[in-house]
Amino acid sequence: MMSEGITPQEKETQYIFDKKYTCPCCDKEFISKTLKSGRVRRDESDMDLRPKAKGIDILKYQVIMCPNCGYSTLAQNYGHLSSLQIKLIREKVSESFRPRPVAKTPIVTYDMALDAYIHAIKCSEARLGKQSEKAYLSLIVHWILDSKAEMEENADMKNMFLEKSEIFYRSAYDGFVKAIAEEYFPMAGMDETTIDYLVAYMAFHFGQLEVASKLLSQVLTNQMAPRRLKDRALELKDRIIDQIKNGK
Ligand SMILES: [Zn+2]
Repeated sequence: MMSEGITPQEKETQYIFDKKYTCPCCDKEFISKTLKSGRVRRDESDMDLRPKAKGIDILKYQVIMCPNCGYSTLAQNYGHLSSLQIKLIREKVSESFRPRPVAKTPIVTYDMALDAYIHAIKCSEARLGKQSEKAYLSLIVHWILDSKAEMEENADMKNMFLEKSEIFYRSAYDGFVKAIAEEYFPMAGMDETTIDYLVAYMAFHFGQLEVASKLLSQVLTNQMAPRRLKDRALELKDRIIDQIKNGK
């Protein structure tokens, strides 16, 4: 996918810049690669709602990790922490964290992103964050592991990534099901119909067809649901009907 002699990596650097952050946990400054939001052009997402953009995998840039203490969070949630939260993160994450060296690559790699998301999950657990937050982070880890599996040529490694990816997808599914029962919308920045569809797709993946059907009918009867989401819901409904017919 070369255009005008630019490599995909060079292309990717056009969508990001170095931004300086001050860590709310350890007060140290660090640089994190950040999306130039005005430059990134969104593509339509897949059936599973993985966010897409032209020329860059934006998932790699939606998390920020302090390389000194390991504090990590979704970029959209970056900011103030209470003194109790800071204490909990220091005890449960920073104490066992070894500072990361300054990255040598001009872009964020999947491995770096994984490192950051795994620490974001740890930090969310440490400060007793919401179910939906951890579920959403697990969902992103699943997507990133899928991308790693896709790029991997060694069959054993590929399978290892896919197996891990399934574990995180399951954890995301279970987390969102709990969140729907316990939390208010929006969840992880998503409204009710988006979450209903997202979880329906996951339920379908795990063979929970009744759960999927119930959530889909909520999407299809919701007046506020955007046309595009309803179209996807109809397509997923057809797939479920096919599976039931084929007795699977
Ligand atoms: Zn820090």
